[in-house]
Amino acid sequence: MNGDEMTRVIWAEIKRRFIHPYLDVDLKYFDLGLPNRNDTDDQIVYDAAAAIGEYGVGVKCATISPDAERVKEFNLKKRWPSANGIIRNYFGGTVFREPIIIPSIKPYVSRWTKPIVVGRHAYGDQYKGQDFVVPGPGTLELVYTPTGGEPTRIEVFKYEGSGIAQAQPNTDVSIRDFAHVSFKYALSRQLPLYLATKDTVMKKYDGRFRDIFQDIYQAEYESEFKKAGLSYSHRLIDDMVAYMVKSQGGFIVSLKSKSFNSVHALNLPTNGNNRWTLLTLALLLSDYDGDVQSDIVAQGFGSLGLMTSVLTTPDDNAFEAEAAHGTVTRHFREHQKGNPTSTNPIASIFAWTRGLKRRGTIDLTPDVVSFSEDLERACIETVEIDGILTKDLAVVSGRGDSFVHTEEFLDAIERKLKSILA
Ligand code: NAD
Repeated sequence: MNGDEMTRVIWAEIKRRFIHPYLDVDLKYFDLGLPNRNDTDDQIVYDAAAAIGEYGVGVKCATISPDAERVKEFNLKKRWPSANGIIRNYFGGTVFREPIIIPSIKPYVSRWTKPIVVGRHAYGDQYKGQDFVVPGPGTLELVYTPTGGEPTRIEVFKYEGSGIAQAQPNTDVSIRDFAHVSFKYALSRQLPLYLATKDTVMKKYDGRFRDIFQDIYQAEYESEFKKAGLSYSHRLIDDMVAYMVKSQGGFIVSLKSKSFNSVHALNLPTNGNNRWTLLTLALLLSDYDGDVQSDIVAQGFGSLGLMTSVLTTPDDNAFEAEAAHGTVTRHFREHQKGNPTSTNPIASIFAWTRGLKRRGTIDLTPDVVSFSEDLERACIETVEIDGILTKDLAVVSGRGDSFVHTEEFLDAIERKLKSILA
């Protein structure tokens, strides 16, 4: 699935340098770039989702989720929704984000030596909720009317003046799917799993997540986890974040889509510098966007250019891989002016390697799996052994201006891959 802007430029390079010369692979191509989405009235995104279902594996380039300015910029017929959202909803899947660990790129959180994988439930909650500006004094009630039954009314709040209100739903089906996907992903990655909620405050809502996970774990996964020497437990989100920052990493944490609503209650250690304090402040100001927690982990590990993202489904029959970052618009504007950029292609390359590994595992083609591993090794050794960095990595490593442009970085990975394969 092709995409937009700087990542589209890099995507073509990845295919030209690392895929076509080495693999005999029948690629089904879907152009999810915004112009083609507009031309096809978004049908292309649904076709792509159906193809992932049919073939089992998809790799996706980052795409623009248009806002009002993009509607003008691309002269769109309408503001098309996020392509990622469409694909995720098509499968009821869960996205797991995981940093690529390169030992010489020291994370800002210096203890982190193993990945922290963040799984985000992305159904219901604020996304399917309603919010409301309360004009003046009155009573807010929640009313549930069962099909063919009598309504139940719950008084929520008595307003003495104006204010705001919000109601949000979720479903047992979706929470169960989330639980199955989380347990299966933990087993496939051989990592312990945590579910973190604020069940002390949202006793029924978050408590439902906790209970469904616990029931499914005991009924279907506990023995497999024990056999694999893995653990599952529920933690209060406050404890989880404190543990996350103090730990070395090496686990998966499954979260509700907006779990960091409770971030104001967290007392994050500053780890010898004040970056975390600043991040916390930024979160409070930016209304805690749903996937901010994985961005925190990405930043804590060093760079968004090292963050991968995979979508898996409850039946485990479909798998989609992509970089967690966006289309890197700021770099693309420079590229459009003919200026070189230093954009990190590693997470986009890992979208391909993760997808190809899955392909090779399904098709029983070990050569494809080992090629993917060699390509990942080429990326890591280019940074780790040859010390060749893109700007984002140079910044994290405190190497200031010692970086190369995108093309030179891709050249270096290509040379490394050739030498590994030789
Ligand atoms: P972004 O991830 O493109 O960039 C965020 C910041 O991280 C920028 O400062 C950027 O320079 C830096 N960055 C990200 N990836 C990098 C890389 N590989 N190398 C070096 N630096 C990198 O997010 P944004 O600027 O908020 O959004 C740009 C566009 O991407 C928007 O139109 C948005 O809708 C889209 N988007 C798409 C996805 C997706 O398809 N998965 C995800 C996020 C944003």
